[in-house]
Amino acid sequence: MPELPECEAARKRIADGALNRTIEGFSLGEVSHVELPSEEDRARFIGTQFTRTRRHGKYIFIGSKDGPWLHIHLGMAGSVRVMENDADLADYIRFTVEFEGGTRLHFRDPRKFGKVTVVEDVDDFIADKGLGPDALEIGDNAFADTIGKTRGAVKSALLSQKKLAGVGNLWADETLYRTGIDPDATANTLEQAKVSEMHANMQSILQAVVDTNATYAKLPDDWLIHHREEGEACSRCDGTIAKKTVGGRTSYYCPEHQAGAS
Ligand SMILES: [Zn+2]
Repeated sequence: MPELPECEAARKRIADGALNRTIEGFSLGEVSHVELPSEEDRARFIGTQFTRTRRHGKYIFIGSKDGPWLHIHLGMAGSVRVMENDADLADYIRFTVEFEGGTRLHFRDPRKFGKVTVVEDVDDFIADKGLGPDALEIGDNAFADTIGKTRGAVKSALLSQKKLAGVGNLWADETLYRTGIDPDATANTLEQAKVSEMHANMQSILQAVVDTNATYAKLPDDWLIHHREEGEACSRCDGTIAKKTVGGRTSYYCPEHQAGAS
């Protein structure tokens, strides 16, 4: 499921290929049960150009100086591609922006949990959703104030988009694995230094994944992502990877070096 780094890679693909080109039209694929802009909303973009992109957590926006913006949410398995007109089309394309000169921006979504909507003001959208600060932007103090003061399981706190926008199951597990914290540990009983270390590790992990354009094979071998299976050897100690459910989400961790709070 796309999290912050996957969405940032998508935003970069859009910024690199789809800006400053005049929008000529749109085409829709098989779109039953997919939320997409109405014909009326689509018409507002014809003849204009996208000039900038934004991302907040798992939300991607493409817009012009005066708006409106297209908001793309990748859902469970969505992706975006920028291609030339004559390129072979992939399956499951739900929505395409057609630019002059033949460039196309495709939104592909096999599982149909994603959506594309029109947003007038990105800051209002973020406020309406009640999203917390972006996980790559949040400072150490703000992280300590929100995550570090949560009374519940630390993993659930990391996953709460209202506290922190962008972290999902995969990178929450990776952050806790590297920091040596049990996913079930109660967040507000962790030592302050540990919370600070978790913040640094989270941002370092997210940035490293962004830097590979979310190509997991390029991530170091000792990352949990390459060992997410029960019984795998831990890459950080002599322990063995185990699995448990925390806050309804399957969590992989090493019981040996990931300690609960005192
Ligand atoms: Zn271990």
